[in-house]
Amino acid sequence: MTSLRVPNRQGHFGPFGGAFVPETVMGALTELERAYATARRDVRFRRELDTLLRRYAGRPTPLYFAKRLSRALGRVRVYLKREDLLHTGAHKINNSLGQALLAVRMGKQRLIAETGAGQHGVATATVAALFGLACEVFMGEEDMRRQALNVVRMRLLGARVTPVRSGTKTLKDACSEAIRHWVTTVRTSHYCIGSVVGPHPYPLLVREFQSVIGREARRQLLDTEGRLPDLLVACVGGGSNAIGLFHPFAGDRRVEMIGVEAGGTSLRPGHHAATLVAGRPGVLHGTRSLLLQDRWGQVLSTASIAAGLDYPGVGPEHAYYQLTKRARYACVSDAQAVRGAQLLARTEGIIPALEPAHAIAYLERLAPTLKRGALIILGLSGRGDKDVETIAQRVYGTNSRHV
Ligand SMILES: *Cc1c(COP(=O)(O)O)cnc(C)c1O
Repeated sequence: MTSLRVPNRQGHFGPFGGAFVPETVMGALTELERAYATARRDVRFRRELDTLLRRYAGRPTPLYFAKRLSRALGRVRVYLKREDLLHTGAHKINNSLGQALLAVRMGKQRLIAETGAGQHGVATATVAALFGLACEVFMGEEDMRRQALNVVRMRLLGARVTPVRSGTKTLKDACSEAIRHWVTTVRTSHYCIGSVVGPHPYPLLVREFQSVIGREARRQLLDTEGRLPDLLVACVGGGSNAIGLFHPFAGDRRVEMIGVEAGGTSLRPGHHAATLVAGRPGVLHGTRSLLLQDRWGQVLSTASIAAGLDYPGVGPEHAYYQLTKRARYACVSDAQAVRGAQLLARTEGIIPALEPAHAIAYLERLAPTLKRGALIILGLSGRGDKDVETIAQRVYGTNSRHV
């Protein structure tokens, strides 16, 4: 059975979680844990974060009844939690604002971040500008090429973007480099992790900052429908938007939860990023969770059309939810995700990011098996502007300038 009291004091979610880091970083993790424990009980901190979320980021986000999407899916009634309408275009800003406030409280002058698609890098560069902090973002060279526009955005916001040339030159390598850099600058820098991954207390901290998604959605649905949903669906990369939606419903036993991962081009090793579906227990970036690895324990390379899902690990709380059967996890392919994006665009006039397009595609597959009138909340984690070029190449076989 799932315990609602996770993580424990050491940051364990059952057999997952913990803090597997060099001794030099332990002090900084303890400092962060204490700062957060004090801040969460401080009315001033909560009020300041709440004000920023409202006036700066644009909360509360709408819970929108998607009538034409529901009709296209048949039988079901789908509400979209519109995180795509937030400042900077995705849910990432919820967490970056919270961590930046903590960094200021701890007297840090710099933020460090890793980024894959660039969304977390942009959110962190944004809050760094807002608080007058220096900012350095580590990004794989391959991702810098694929997401050139976000590199420009970060630089425009005053951040330094440092290319990472090791490994596959993607998110996993950017994380490793950010941790290495943090070890040498812990006194002045706060490492702003972008998902519910990494060593304790990060999976807890990021979950708490993202839970605003589920708290709002719960209240909004009770207001309009007078009841709880039957099902929650969200995409899972590291797992922060999904945990943010799921966690406030964790104690509502009748609410089912499904996380949707990146199935890439096939489930052969190296061709996907479906960690919960195909991974085994292991340690990566300071936490024990499920992990895509070969039989010698080497971390596998990953592939996904959605850069934000392209990571071989996953948050330890999701591994725990899967183990205790509190949530289920599935995956859809790149091609299905693109069709999911097209479906939402054409039925509702909303172009989603390719990450939540995975959740839409999965719902399309699932809908015929659900009971008539099933009430669903789908986490729409981000908008699709960043992916238009990718979709253009896929669908029209050319780039956007030649459509
Ligand atoms: C980063 C990102 C994700 C994946 O990260 P999670 O931590 O799994 O939420 C999903 N959707 C969007 C739009 C993103 O930018």
